[in-house]
Amino acid sequence: AVKASYRGTHLFYARHMSEGLEERRQLESDLRRAIERNELEIHYQPSIALQTGQIAGFEALARWTHPVRGSIPPSLFISIAEDCGLIHTIGEWALTEACRQAATWPHGLKVAVNLSPVQFAGPGLVGMVGGVLARTGLPAGRLELEITEQMLLESSEQTLAILRDLKALGLHIAMDDFGTGYSSLNYLRSFPFDRIKVDRSFVTGLGTGAQHTAIVRAVIDIARNLGMRTTAEGIETPEQHRQLAALGCDEVQGYLFSRPVPVAEVRPLIARWRVNGSLAA
Ligand code: C2E
Ligand code: MG
Ligand code: MG
Ligand code: MG
Repeated sequence: AVKASYRGTHLFYARHMSEGLEERRQLESDLRRAIERNELEIHYQPSIALQTGQIAGFEALARWTHPVRGSIPPSLFISIAEDCGLIHTIGEWALTEACRQAATWPHGLKVAVNLSPVQFAGPGLVGMVGGVLARTGLPAGRLELEITEQMLLESSEQTLAILRDLKALGLHIAMDDFGTGYSSLNYLRSFPFDRIKVDRSFVTGLGTGAQHTAIVRAVIDIARNLGMRTTAEGIETPEQHRQLAALGCDEVQGYLFSRPVPVAEVRPLIARWRVNGSLAA
């Protein structure tokens, strides 16, 4: 906890220098009110299984529409929430929303929810997640929690123990944004992730040069050899889609297929996809 709060403080100052202390303070108090006034919502982006062309599940992404400033990107409000501790409230709310929704989806579609490293610092994460599963009735096997390499920087025994306890609930763990942090292959050895999500920055380069393809191929091969599944993030072009299929990637996600959509659009999207029977692309 001491280490985590030091890291939080460090990030806090770095961000203030670029974004302005007053603005962040204001947004922090606005965010507190936003939670009470239900200004936060979850949008859902489908993930497509390349083998079948069918939707495998959806990733839950938090959205905040500020009454005056309009849409605030999660990269900003999640970092503010992490600095001021609100991330615990937002994290539990987002997980509950996502699990409650997913429990109503047909065909056992899974839901992926992002976890902040800060949620690992406090006690009770495993109990919270178990409680949400029990209350919403979502079978644990349909939940995937996405964590980033940031979480494993300190790679303490404690972090690994929490990840193992989470997996013992029956849910799956994905490593998000793989390759962007202080990546170390050690992480892959020391913890059995169920899935690796290849970061958009690698996908973007596909089709523009042999090096990009080589890196993505290597990540997919490593994952496969370690018994992990792969998802590629940020597919925007048919060429990227084609290459990922050729490389044997398991799932794809990106604007080419669908942007994250509001909850009311999830069921129509599932229905439309089933009727078309394949990817629109
Ligand atoms: P992420 O988990 O890696 O989510 C993927 C991001 O890429 C999302 O941005 C998504 O809208 C965007 N994206 C998806 N497909 C494409 C594409 O084809 N092209 C481009 N350019 N972008 C694409 P978003 O929603 O702005 O979220 C940004 C980050 O904020 C997420 O990255 C995640 O780390 C964090 N985040 C969002 N919601 C939550 C949450 O509920 N809890 C936590 N802890 N973090 C969250
Ligand atoms: Mg994610
Ligand atoms: Mg990601
Ligand atoms: Mg990301």
